[in-house]
Amino acid sequence: MTAHPPPAAQPARRLLLVHAHPDDESINNGVTMAKYAAEGALVTLVTCTRGEEGEVIPPELAHLAPDRDDSLGPYRVDELAAAMDALGVTDHRFLGGPGRYRDSGMMGAPQNERPDCFWQAPLDEAAAHLVAVIREVGPQVLVTYDPNGGYGHPDHIQAHRVAMRGAELAARADFRPDLGGAHAIEKIYWNCNPRSVVEEGFARLRAAGRAFPGIATVDDVPGVLPDAEVTASVTGSAAHRAAKTAAMRAHYTQIAVDGPFFALSNDLGQPLFGTEHYQLVHGTPGAPAAGGREDDLFAGVGETVGTEERARIEEAAE
Ligand SMILES: [Zn+2]
Repeated sequence: MTAHPPPAAQPARRLLLVHAHPDDESINNGVTMAKYAAEGALVTLVTCTRGEEGEVIPPELAHLAPDRDDSLGPYRVDELAAAMDALGVTDHRFLGGPGRYRDSGMMGAPQNERPDCFWQAPLDEAAAHLVAVIREVGPQVLVTYDPNGGYGHPDHIQAHRVAMRGAELAARADFRPDLGGAHAIEKIYWNCNPRSVVEEGFARLRAAGRAFPGIATVDDVPGVLPDAEVTASVTGSAAHRAAKTAAMRAHYTQIAVDGPFFALSNDLGQPLFGTEHYQLVHGTPGAPAAGGREDDLFAGVGETVGTEERARIEEAAE
């Protein structure tokens, strides 16, 4: 049911991603975003907070921290804009506008109790902001986290809840008709990582002996699943992988990149994945590629791609 078809000028394929903080999109979905943007699809990123409580890696920027200048949020807005330039993504927004919801900090931190933090936001109020975006853009595909937010961060859990609730409410004609006509998203995916791929990545990292003070473990990687539960894998071109690396580097306060590896503020190296993995949790899988997984998040989506977009898909594949 798509009550209001999006304007004719919209690309035929429209992908929406909902993330908690600036940097999550590049780490989880950088290749996917770069690939679909290059192919002419509309890629819309909704980030729920500005990441004000993130730990700052570069010493020269330590003053941005919440216990000093508390100016990390605006700084990360700029980092996100640079990352989107690297990925070729032009439609990025903050849920309810920049600064509407504050980063809640790690689970159990006193910041979880701040009334302005995302963790404290009433679900349907936060979801209504997403409903407006869904009805405006009309995405066929939504990507977000699993119910644990991948690794238990309150903002990631809340982003999952808002994404799922937003998708549900956007499809209901009786919910807030002032926010636009009902739109049902055809396919919903959760980010995940197949265990064998993660283990192989850590083996490469240990063999390479990279210059991080330590090495993370499989348990530090969000959303690790048995391989058989992974339903889609998106592999971009070398250019898309390079765009992901550049986007991660743009999140300079949060990520240190070293070749095919990276570290967050805990200084523990982990593999940077050039193939991104998903679990389809709503909708019908398209024809699986060899090996049984989808290789295209739009597989089976019931809308024809126009000739202009088709030409860009073929061009981008070369
Ligand atoms: Zn995050």
